[in-house]
Amino acid sequence: MDSRRAFYIGRFQPYHLGHQTVLESIAHEVDEIIIGIGSAQTSHEQDDLFTAGERVLMMTRALEDLGVKHYIIPIEDIQRNSVWVSHIISMTPPFKVVYSNNPLVIRLFEEAGIEVRQSPMYQREQYSGTEIRRRMLAGEGWESLVPSSTVDIIKEIGGLERLKLISGRDSI
Ligand code: ATP
Ligand code: MG
Repeated sequence: MDSRRAFYIGRFQPYHLGHQTVLESIAHEVDEIIIGIGSAQTSHEQDDLFTAGERVLMMTRALEDLGVKHYIIPIEDIQRNSVWVSHIISMTPPFKVVYSNNPLVIRLFEEAGIEVRQSPMYQREQYSGTEIRRRMLAGEGWESLVPSSTVDIIKEIGGLERLKLISGRDSI
């Protein structure tokens, strides 16, 4: 039965419509999806802005209508790629297939003998965490690239102000 349960991992800094599109298509292929929130321990950094809990909130709200059972599990880094797959397995419900487009993630799971499926990249120039953070910092429009519930959460927690403050220099 766990061959119908899939694993998908990202940092989701922030959760965007590229991720949402991938998850909606995975939902057509499997019965249950385990979503790993990577680098769970990291927040308040320019490239890792949101806490694991804030990212859980973004995904829980955006995936309310996904239509398949899903589990959102924060996973801390262990700084040791050779045992990273075991670390993941120790933290998640059993699964038989992984969906990823990240070369290192693909390689580590394949070396562990676990099937990895790749999905097409969806308008990668704009649906990219790096591009969204760049736009937020530059004061350019980013709201159309994430689900509206994610916009609400980022506003509620003062995400834009956080990014601008932590990207600044020490004041005199
Ligand atoms: P960053 O630029 O911060 O790395 P990201 O957009 O790559 O952000 P991740 O959280 O690193 O987001 O990605 C999680 C997974 O989603 C990875 O497998 C990544 O390849 C995939 N992904 C990200 N953007 C898209 C997209 N536009 N279409 C399809 N898959 C995507
Ligand atoms: Mg990435």
